[in-house]
Amino acid sequence: MLANKNDKKTDLEALGEFGLIDHLTKNFAPSQASTEKGVGDDGAVLHLKNRTVISTDFLIEGVHFDLSYMPLKHLGYKSVIVNLSDIYAMNAIATQILVSIAVSNRFPLEALEELYQGIALATKKYEVDLIGGDTSSSKTGMLISITALGEAKAEEIAYRAGARANDLLVVSGDLGAAYMGLQVLEREKEVFKVNPNNQPDLEPYSYIVERQLKPEARKDIVELLKKLEVKPTAMIDISDGLSSEILHLCKQSHVGCNLFEDKIPLDPTVIAACEEFKLDSTLVALSGGEDYELLFTINQKDFPKIKGNPNFTVIGHMTEAGEGAHLVTRGNSKIPLTAQGWNSFPS
Ligand SMILES: [Mg+2]
Repeated sequence: MLANKNDKKTDLEALGEFGLIDHLTKNFAPSQASTEKGVGDDGAVLHLKNRTVISTDFLIEGVHFDLSYMPLKHLGYKSVIVNLSDIYAMNAIATQILVSIAVSNRFPLEALEELYQGIALATKKYEVDLIGGDTSSSKTGMLISITALGEAKAEEIAYRAGARANDLLVVSGDLGAAYMGLQVLEREKEVFKVNPNNQPDLEPYSYIVERQLKPEARKDIVELLKKLEVKPTAMIDISDGLSSEILHLCKQSHVGCNLFEDKIPLDPTVIAACEEFKLDSTLVALSGGEDYELLFTINQKDFPKIKGNPNFTVIGHMTEAGEGAHLVTRGNSKIPLTAQGWNSFPS
């Protein structure tokens, strides 16, 4: 999977560090008005008119991704997406990224070209400029560090701390698909280990596998909210699972929450996969993670503006802090929400 189709392999050392950066970034032309100078000098130069929002993330081989089923092009794409998602979660529009990678010499140049093809695809689709970064050799696995920048007017920025009691809790899209896609890929990896000639039929799982391998960030939701003239009182993106994100909002806003189990949006293919893997679909939505949907709260007066819009689901409401955060089950019992989100530090 690491080599490309014609199996051409160019040693990274042949290019040297500067040659490598030049080679990988040569097709990235800035398109943002705020980028005065992108790649190619000691520093990039930006001319920003609004508030600047900055976020950074590490992706580490063996912790955040597994190259045995993650094509490098997808990895490059997803690495950008997870960072842009944090910018959109601030109700800002992403404008630039910096990409730093460390790789061992087991990767030929062609492998890094594939990675950068994915990065290029994401920068084009989301209209962000690659303005810098670094490459280094690694003695262990691959490391990718991306910093994303975005902009918004001061009054537009949505913080985690702005939710108030009686605000409605809203989520975009549907939940749990990325986690179930991962279950399918892990299962196929085990099958492949036993019988490498076994070609898996992933067609029935295409939606959930794509949600795992090639997620999208919800720039469209930020734009839609602006169009509908809805300013979220608080917002966060769902990277670690619904329950832990809700608890972040509750803690930082000093409120409680009632989340209704029967309102959690699930794609039919997620429900089917949960049945096949004998997993509880509510638990998968609560703790699965990596959906990169936006979770936000709105004032009740804004409800008519989003009512009936297929992009949004009202899944609960905020309460006074003293009431705590609960899941209201289909059977109408109240269970305290616990953070069972994705844990990067398994024991
Ligand atoms: Mg986030």
